[in-house]
Amino acid sequence: MVAALPRTGEFSFFLCNTLQGTTGTTCGPNMRRQYPIAIVGGGPAGALAATLLAEGGRDVVLFDEKLAWEKPCGGGLTHKALQQYPFLADAASASNLNSNFVDRCELISPSGKRVRFRMRYPVAILSRLALNGLLLEQARRAGIDARVDVRQERVTRITRTGRDWHLHTPQREYQASYLLLAAGARNPFRSQFLAPISSSDLMVTAGYFIPGHSALMQIQFLQGITGYIWVFPRADHVSAGIAGKMGESPTAELRRILEQWLDENGYRREGASFYSHILPSYRAQTFEGLEVCGDGWSMIGDSAGLVDPITGEGLYYALRSAELCASALLAGRPYEYGAMLAEEVLPELQLAARISQRFYTGQIFGESVLERMVALTAQSASIRDLMSDLFAGIQDYRDLRARLCRILPSVMVRGLTGSLRRSWRGSSASELATDLLSE
Ligand SMILES: Cc1cc2nc3c(=O)[nH]c(=O)nc-3n(C[C@H](O)[C@H](O)[C@H](O)COP(=O)(O)OP(=O)(O)OC[C@H]3O[C@@H](n4cnc5c(N)ncnc54)[C@H](O)[C@@H]3O)c2cc1C
Repeated sequence: MVAALPRTGEFSFFLCNTLQGTTGTTCGPNMRRQYPIAIVGGGPAGALAATLLAEGGRDVVLFDEKLAWEKPCGGGLTHKALQQYPFLADAASASNLNSNFVDRCELISPSGKRVRFRMRYPVAILSRLALNGLLLEQARRAGIDARVDVRQERVTRITRTGRDWHLHTPQREYQASYLLLAAGARNPFRSQFLAPISSSDLMVTAGYFIPGHSALMQIQFLQGITGYIWVFPRADHVSAGIAGKMGESPTAELRRILEQWLDENGYRREGASFYSHILPSYRAQTFEGLEVCGDGWSMIGDSAGLVDPITGEGLYYALRSAELCASALLAGRPYEYGAMLAEEVLPELQLAARISQRFYTGQIFGESVLERMVALTAQSASIRDLMSDLFAGIQDYRDLRARLCRILPSVMVRGLTGSLRRSWRGSSASELATDLLSE
């Protein structure tokens, strides 16, 4: 049992001998007991952090009101994520995750031009019920001298006395020495620690889990919407959805656009279940001032806004931020988590945020960047390889311009259509690459 408190809440200062035998606390003679680390949220970020902390010898109490559930999500795990977390690749390959490895992709431009290509590295598309279940089970089994106490309880209030945190649930009150917020994009405790997230830093999503099979991942870019429609085929259903910047189009309108697209593209909604959720999509300036930890607390995953603002990929960042945060905590230097993120993760996300607006709404030679991108993908094998690497998560935004500069001269020389050739006349490859990617 962890340091669960009676509702009176009078136990803010326990001495070692008062808690002898209680799991989740450590101390030496005459020392104050150390309470467990509390994690609010048992999604990918919270569950992995719990596992790593217990493996490192720290007791953890993890709260999730739903435990494993079908969280609204595409469920796409990139090659980058599978490489970084081989246990997920193994579980996905062994079908423990009810997963589907998809290597065929169709991109559709806003005007309806389509290109299909084979991705060099398949995307593992899986049910979130299965993924969350696997990660929570791993957390339950983690640790030898320490353990994770997984609680299906909703944390309704967090308070602090001295250095100790008090977490209140409808069932009881718990005490913790450190607080990890992994409560997702809707993190209800954010305003206790940081300024609220601006609506300009969020996307709204709407989608359906549709029974059926498909071997094709589809991405439809849209006119006037900073976002896209996706169809991610899973083992026994597809997750199809639409995402757009909050405030740009009401969710009901996004849903109507999605439904019309599904009807036109042969997806029947009988038996499908609807979902809607928010997704962090931070602007560059928000990433620049990002705060992820303070005195006795840290935020990881969606709670911290760690999602690629172009692709919406968040699973890799949820897992990686959990790993970085756990390693900083285990080293006894929790503040270093922020510096680690700033060094490894934030430069890419910041760059994606800077490019994002241009990518979705920019023009190049009188045509949208998205139309150009789909046309180039149809015309050039090198561009298809580049797109494939972007979907695999292994093409950094930082190196994208240099790679385009290398590829574009041959693309321009080889049989481009008359209109493209006309519109590109006089432009160098580096000018084109700069135009495609300018911030
Ligand atoms: C529609 C959609 C599609 C997406 N598609 C993809 C994709 O294909 N690939 C990809 O990489 N990313 C995708 N993402 C992003 C991805 O879903 C998130 O980045 C990821 O789930 C973040 O994990 P997390 O652990 O930080 O948060 P979450 O997965 O949101 O987990 C938070 C957990 O906290 C719990 N919780 C919240 N409040 C409390 C409370 N008060 N008490 C107890 N428990 C609480 C919740 O029950 C939940 O289980 C998508 C997101 C959306 C919305």
